[in-house]
Amino acid sequence: MSKVMIIGAGGVGTVVAHKMASMPEVFTEIMLASRTKSKCDAIAQKIGGNRIQTAQVDADKVPELVELINSFKPDIVVNVALPYQDLTIMDACLETGVAYLDTANYEPKDEAKFEYKWQWAYHDRYKDAGITAILGCGFDPGVTSIFTAYAAKHHFDEIHYLDIVDCNAGDHGKPFATNFNPEINIREVTQKGKYWENGQWVTTEPHEIHKPLTYPEIGSRESYLIYHEELESLVKNFPTIKRARFWMTFGEEYLTHLRVIQNIGMARIDPVKFKGVDIVPIEFLKAVLPNPGELGENYKGKTSIGCRIRGIKDGKEKTYYIYNNCDHQVAYKETGTQAVSYTTGVPATIGAMMYLTGKWKAPGVFNVEEFDPDPFMEELNKRGLPWNELHDVDIEL
Ligand code: NDP
Repeated sequence: MSKVMIIGAGGVGTVVAHKMASMPEVFTEIMLASRTKSKCDAIAQKIGGNRIQTAQVDADKVPELVELINSFKPDIVVNVALPYQDLTIMDACLETGVAYLDTANYEPKDEAKFEYKWQWAYHDRYKDAGITAILGCGFDPGVTSIFTAYAAKHHFDEIHYLDIVDCNAGDHGKPFATNFNPEINIREVTQKGKYWENGQWVTTEPHEIHKPLTYPEIGSRESYLIYHEELESLVKNFPTIKRARFWMTFGEEYLTHLRVIQNIGMARIDPVKFKGVDIVPIEFLKAVLPNPGELGENYKGKTSIGCRIRGIKDGKEKTYYIYNNCDHQVAYKETGTQAVSYTTGVPATIGAMMYLTGKWKAPGVFNVEEFDPDPFMEELNKRGLPWNELHDVDIEL
């Protein structure tokens, strides 16, 4: 008997609701709450069977969250709203004594930072209250971090070089669209690049470093070094790492649109006055771009995300590549969303399951790689995200 509350009814929330509804043995009662209740109702209706209760909540407001949590009394809150809501939802969980899980680190609205410091600062308060918080349980961060923990546990004595490679070889047929929330996505990919080398962060201009990498069942794709939040916790939790980088593929068309958006000021996150009203250009841009939740129907092709690792096992150099490929059409048939939402929502569901079955339960605030990866890895294979591993191959990096 367990109760879960999902907050956020976007692409990822849709997948989490579908997956949890299909696992009544773990998730007995499910509430889906978000700013716009009609979106929750539409998802609940599509799933059917009275599996999902719905509610309206403004997750920027702690008292509203506390009231809703106290009325439903969930065992865990799964936050798949936006990174801006992380701290208010963590506050509400602390006040009500309920476990917390999210898929993206807190970001203040007025500066794109992608740092864990605000959420790690809750560790002692969660520990003292005996509550578990699980941070970053999507695909990246999330599965990529768990892949690294699995490699460290089973295949390496020391990990030295870690390259996380994220390829979306899908085609949605639109000249420009983002695969998840446009505001968060554009903020992430237009920031400066950053990677870890020899004990310090090295900063690059946006998209300055790039090279073609070969992805399984896909082929060669130009891949760009960007900063991604899991690097921060991974270099802390695996101190033998000498270098950690993150690569993401972008098409020429996407990059050209992005350049124009930036050059004309539409990626700005500070307010500008328009006809006497304050408008944040990137928020306005979101309103006119395609809704990522509706890209699924015509999305063809696959994503391929994984970790390419070099290190030492039994005194010998070793390479290892672990990855998942996910097909947009297969994800769409199951949940009505494309693979980017699917690859985020399934791990969030499994993370909640890990907590509810007592496998990932510890007082405090933790990144996913701090828990035992094995039971999670087993569930990935069963719940739609099977993984493959290659030993001692040319990892190109
Ligand atoms: P969407 O924009 O599609 O959905 C966000 C949802 O949150 C919407 O339903 C929105 O409501 C709701 N929301 C926003 N603000 C509030 C608020 N104040 N109170 C209540 N609800 C609110 O985003 P996605 O589903 O694409 O992404 C969800 C999360 O997943 C994001 O944090 C994103 O960064 C993360 N993510 C993580 C990935 C990973 O691999 N780790 C990959 C992809 C995404 P409304 O409909 O009213 O706007």
